[in-house]
Amino acid sequence: MTTIFSKIISGEISADIVYKTPKIIAFKDIFPQAPTHILVVPAVPYENILEADSDTIVELFAVIKHLVSSLGLEKGGFRVVINTGDEGGQTVPHLHLHLLAGRDMKWPPG
Ligand code: 5GP
Repeated sequence: MTTIFSKIISGEISADIVYKTPKIIAFKDIFPQAPTHILVVPAVPYENILEADSDTIVELFAVIKHLVSSLGLEKGGFRVVINTGDEGGQTVPHLHLHLLAGRDMKWPPG
């Protein structure tokens, strides 16, 4: 499915990109929910994590680790979120990981 994220990946729509390879892109969320809010997205438009192959899932988390290190988030901590489906709060049907940091996170999440 073509979503706004495919248009960001192709360059049709601009975004504040912080990491990019042919397989994975990471960019700042347009409506940040924390001082650091980055979306990590595979180039292949899997609708959700259930569709993605294991290699892609591993690479997505490797990019999370890279960003945590390069942005110096280890000390303060961070949260990774994968909203999935309607009840999971997913609004863009293209698999993505939210990397959130820079404030105290609440539990349970809303
Ligand atoms: P979801 O609700 O599917 O888990 O997350 C989708 C995220 O994409 C939301 O946090 C939303 O703010 C973000 N988003 C939606 N449209 C755009 C856009 O055009 N550019 C950027 N950078 N983020 C977007």
